[in-house]
Amino acid sequence: MIERTTLYIGGHWLTPSSAGTLQVTDSNTGDLFATIPAGSEADVNAAVSAARAAFPGWSQTSSADRAKVLQKVSDGLLKRGDALTRLIATEVGTPLRACSLVQVAAPANSWAYYARLAQQFDYEARVGNSMVVREPVGVVAAITPWNYPLHQITQKIAPALASGCTVVLKPSEIAPLNAFVLAEVIHEAGLPPGVFNLVTGLGPLVGEALAAHPEVDMVSFTGSTRAGKQVSRIGSETIKRISLELGGKSASIVLDDADLAKAVQATVSHCYLNSGQTCAAWTRMLVPRDRLDHARELARQAADSFVVGSAFAEGVKLGPLASAAHRDRVLSYIRLGLEEGAELVTGGPEAPAGTGDGYFVRPTVFVADPRSTVAREEIFGPVLTIIPYDSEAEAVNIANDTIYGLSGAVWAGTDDRALGVARQLRTGQVDINGGRWNPLAPFGGYKQSGQGRENGIYGLEEFLEYKAIQLRA
Ligand code: NAD
Repeated sequence: MIERTTLYIGGHWLTPSSAGTLQVTDSNTGDLFATIPAGSEADVNAAVSAARAAFPGWSQTSSADRAKVLQKVSDGLLKRGDALTRLIATEVGTPLRACSLVQVAAPANSWAYYARLAQQFDYEARVGNSMVVREPVGVVAAITPWNYPLHQITQKIAPALASGCTVVLKPSEIAPLNAFVLAEVIHEAGLPPGVFNLVTGLGPLVGEALAAHPEVDMVSFTGSTRAGKQVSRIGSETIKRISLELGGKSASIVLDDADLAKAVQATVSHCYLNSGQTCAAWTRMLVPRDRLDHARELARQAADSFVVGSAFAEGVKLGPLASAAHRDRVLSYIRLGLEEGAELVTGGPEAPAGTGDGYFVRPTVFVADPRSTVAREEIFGPVLTIIPYDSEAEAVNIANDTIYGLSGAVWAGTDDRALGVARQLRTGQVDINGGRWNPLAPFGGYKQSGQGRENGIYGLEEFLEYKAIQLRA
């Protein structure tokens, strides 16, 4: 049992202002596994003051000095890679191998990437008689979710620090342990006191206090569209810069000349990645009506091949969901799908055999009407909804007929045809014919999937202001 009793504020591990704690459970067993401080508004105030006080100094350091610290954080995370992998496999439930690659190595590499970018980025340009200078936006509050916890923290904090901002992090209360390890690594890397601060606690309390705080210049939020709207409302009172990475209901469009077997296999795998707890997951698969029977059978086979079990068990491809409450939410969507008359292809609301008290859900596939709830709402679990269509134009309409606009896929006989459809999708990214994830490409959403972009150079620019200095010449 891990007991975290302090918060990282102003370069020190401090006792929180109130004695409240939050419990963290092991997703694989349901057992209590850790407790963390339930931070309060007083802790937020202390952390924001520390970040504000550190800003003038940190923002004036050279990009080479900032890069050195970022590189040390990358090294420190890699050094603790095994321990971090086991921690995140416990709190989130990602199977070990995927956990090590996606949840730990990828963010560690991202710190190294931003160390390089901090030095390569051009912070000044000339436009006529003006010198246009890019400057850090100021004190940044980072509010993050639990599904890829260290990655989501990294995609905010590494570019924020690289650009010269100071930070207060409020990680998810469901998977916060990795953030404590990160704070230790950051401390060891020698970041000056107050440049990075960690306050754990509940969203409506700590998160909203950060969003409301007049000394916070920017809130970078990743999470649900519901909470993102609240952060946006509160933050707008002080005209903060607000970036939001929110939910999705992304479509994988399989056109009539596509390699059906390849498209279905890839779509099911994408949908079930991290047990479906991926904001960009392709959770709707659109197939030509005359290929529905074949697609349904291929999807059933692909889903049934996912071995469900503990993240620590050999051969498991589908771990548990991150919390009991979230598991119950996903199960209620599956039951609603059945009540609304969706056809259940495989899976369902019963617990998978032999999985004990962990938060497991069976890999589930529906065929459903595009107006049904399972075809419209973000479920955030291993649930794929197949939707038949009659024409390419109808497929595009169905794909775009959602409040979300995060991601998508197009499968076609030629890349040209797939590209033509990809250009019609109102989403922040589209993969065509199996195009790979690119961590340097901008990531973010259209519509209610968010505003702003993370990753690569686009992620760094989020944390920079423009200043125009007019010269005499
Ligand atoms: P969530 O919105 O419940 O929580 C996210 C974070 O916001 C947590 O730290 C939480 O404590 C905090 N929070 C909750 N209510 C708040 C409030 N009123 N004010 C301020 N902060 C608040 O989301 P979650 O359940 O942790 O994560 C799942 C959601 O995140 C899904 O909807 C998913 O699509 C989305 N997500 C989006 C992306 C993306 O990049 N677009 C990435 C990952 C997850």
